[in-house]
Amino acid sequence: MAAPERRPTTIVAIDQGTTSTRAIVFDDRGRIVSAGQREHRQLFPKPGWVEHDPAEIWRNTRHVIGEALADAGITRHDVAAIGITNQRETVIVWDRATGEPIHNAIVWQDTRTQDAVDALAADGGVRRFAAKTGLPLATYFSATKIAWILDHVEGARERAEAGELAFGTPDSWVLWKLTDGAVHATDVTNASRTLLMDLATLDWDDELCEAFRVPRAILPEIRSSSEVYGHAASDSLLRETPIAGILGDQQAATFGQAAFDAGESKNTYGTGGFLIVNTGTELVHSGSGLITTVAYRLGDEAPRFALEGSVAVAGSLVQWLRDNLGIIRTAPEVETLAETVDDNGDVYIVPAFSGLFAPYWRPDARGAIVGLTRFANKGHLARAALEAVAYQTLDVFEAANSELEVPITELRVDGGMVANELLLQLQADALGVPVVRPEITETTALGAAYAAGLAVGLWKDTDELRALWAEDRRWEPAVDAATRAHGIARWRKAVERTLDWVESDTP
Ligand code: ADP
Repeated sequence: MAAPERRPTTIVAIDQGTTSTRAIVFDDRGRIVSAGQREHRQLFPKPGWVEHDPAEIWRNTRHVIGEALADAGITRHDVAAIGITNQRETVIVWDRATGEPIHNAIVWQDTRTQDAVDALAADGGVRRFAAKTGLPLATYFSATKIAWILDHVEGARERAEAGELAFGTPDSWVLWKLTDGAVHATDVTNASRTLLMDLATLDWDDELCEAFRVPRAILPEIRSSSEVYGHAASDSLLRETPIAGILGDQQAATFGQAAFDAGESKNTYGTGGFLIVNTGTELVHSGSGLITTVAYRLGDEAPRFALEGSVAVAGSLVQWLRDNLGIIRTAPEVETLAETVDDNGDVYIVPAFSGLFAPYWRPDARGAIVGLTRFANKGHLARAALEAVAYQTLDVFEAANSELEVPITELRVDGGMVANELLLQLQADALGVPVVRPEITETTALGAAYAAGLAVGLWKDTDELRALWAEDRRWEPAVDAATRAHGIARWRKAVERTLDWVESDTP
């Protein structure tokens, strides 16, 4: 049977997230045609450890691709390209010969390598490698997690040195699986989160590999964010379709928000919270606790850089209210519960479950609920949880503004939590600038689709993509200055209460 003559005009974006994997079919106007989604298990073998099963993630990826194609009523002939976006920093190590992982994925939230990080920081402090990598030393980034697997799986280190093993963040894992082992690559945005890449050369760095004890033989090739990496293998529903875009989830969301130029920014509210400000072709090294990272690189063009403020706990605080406290049954119920009270009753939650990320970078912090009185009820807790997300975002927003010549005048937002309109009002109140939600809030998947579509010529350039961005709704700050100042002062005091909690002799 001859292949149909029609020109493919859709893109399949695979979004391999922390809690689930999605496949979304976009049309050539950047609109969602269909989607498939499946959650995977969160494995907590010990306090502070977080793992995923890479085989389950790959099964889910295949499943959701099938779901999305069926739902759209299309076949591979309608798909111009595949884009991949992913939870960043998460580490998977697999056997090149069998394609089998040698250990569960160690997830970005996992803090098991704190001792290794402390040992490295003892000589030169947490900013020891910051000039080269843009990153502070933290368990968050991939390098110490790779070494942990090589040190704890029998024979792994020797096999890695011999070139028998492959490391990848989930983008590389999905790319490898999709191409049936033909391509072992990652993009610059993902590579920039490992602590192993030099931002100046955009290549793996021998000094860093040595310091973190990661053999170069295990590392994927670093490619741009938008180019054809390879084609889906013959056993795939999308066989022969080019895989043409890869961006780490936060960079993808920035791209999907059309924040292509210096000074443009976005905040994503997912499991964690992530503010990104595009700094253009300029590498800005932060003095205020932000990360310097690659925003994107299109083919051979000059890379664009960004400043990023990462907040470890955002949506996962809502999950905690649901799963650990049981005061809500579903995530959206947090909004209804928070609306049963007029304000937070002066209760503050600082969700420093695994320490505090930007701008504090305090691994010794642990969570606290402060300001409790006999008056406080679960409505106040729900409200304090949403405010905690808003105030953590304020902290990174202020840090970003302190680095920029022109302060941010409005914040584009996206991610699973932006369905929560109370949160967005609280956010505008905390920031004192408008908060803007686009029509398509699946910006992560959209960004990956854009990168893939650009590489295969479905879209001409970023100007064409910018024209596709459309506003859904905006929230203006609505609180008076005194109330705002009171809330911020209380929040900062609450943060103080969480610091210095974990002592080095804590088991
Ligand atoms: P990720 O990409 O990190 O997996 P998502 O962007 O899918 O995350 O967002 C999911 C997170 O958003 C979950 O932590 C969930 O608890 C939270 N969430 C989803 N809907 C709501 C809501 N209506 N209100 C508050 N939180 C929500």
